[in-house]
Amino acid sequence: MKFKHLLAACLCLSLFVPALADDLDAIKKKGLLVVGVKDSTPPFGVRDVKTNTIAGYDVDFALAIAKHMGVKVVVKAVESAERIPALQRHDVDMVIATMTKNAEREKQVDFSEGYFVTGQKFVVRKGKVNNIEDLTKATIGTATGSTSEKQLRRELPNANVVLFEDYAPAMAALSKGELDAVSTDEPILAGLLNKMPNKQNFEIPDVSISIEIYGVAVRKGETRLVKEVNDTLIGMEQSGEAAKIFNRWFGENTATPLLRTFKIKAH
Ligand code: GLU
Repeated sequence: MKFKHLLAACLCLSLFVPALADDLDAIKKKGLLVVGVKDSTPPFGVRDVKTNTIAGYDVDFALAIAKHMGVKVVVKAVESAERIPALQRHDVDMVIATMTKNAEREKQVDFSEGYFVTGQKFVVRKGKVNNIEDLTKATIGTATGSTSEKQLRRELPNANVVLFEDYAPAMAALSKGELDAVSTDEPILAGLLNKMPNKQNFEIPDVSISIEIYGVAVRKGETRLVKEVNDTLIGMEQSGEAAKIFNRWFGENTATPLLRTFKIKAH
């Protein structure tokens, strides 16, 4: 008898304890998605100084994901080393900021399927570098907290790696002759090289040291939010919207023409 009462009490309790709200519920409830993006990494995220707004490939994905969720979107600038801390401090709900998904980062955050694929290369003075051996003892700038930094130390252990908060100041140092190279993902280098005042003196040789697959990062354990993002990304691939965004920023007539060698798909 006693056991029956206890069982009934437990059943009642389970009926009345609401499921804990997750990030997806919280975003929908406030009607707002806050996304961390880059603001000086053309063409993924660049601030327009006149309007003080940020636009780019990553921002377009943020807009599409918010639209799919039926909420408004606000973008906030985050530098490479700040992406995971910004998520953990709840400064942002999501990061779409040229962020490579890898096993090490997956210990701290969860990632969507990949939405961009590229590789790490170098910007150097024209005619100076033909292969990786030419960079063995070079002074190379990159951003702190990036996969680029880690890979440089692994692939070129005798190089002098100089860390910057972001890639734009590293390019300024290269332009002034303070560095032999700047290294990160190829489209970031192409976007910044295009803005360099003395760009005719520099090039990106065909020397690649990694494959980088960018993912949308969310807080660890937010499986419903990851599914929502993945559903949007796969839908964007199927509808052609993802390719359209790619062409807007990397198409033939842009400053950074690239071939779309990947498709967004479920793994
Ligand atoms: N994709 C690399 C990373 O996630 C390099 C680019 C960046 O720092 O944003 O670290």
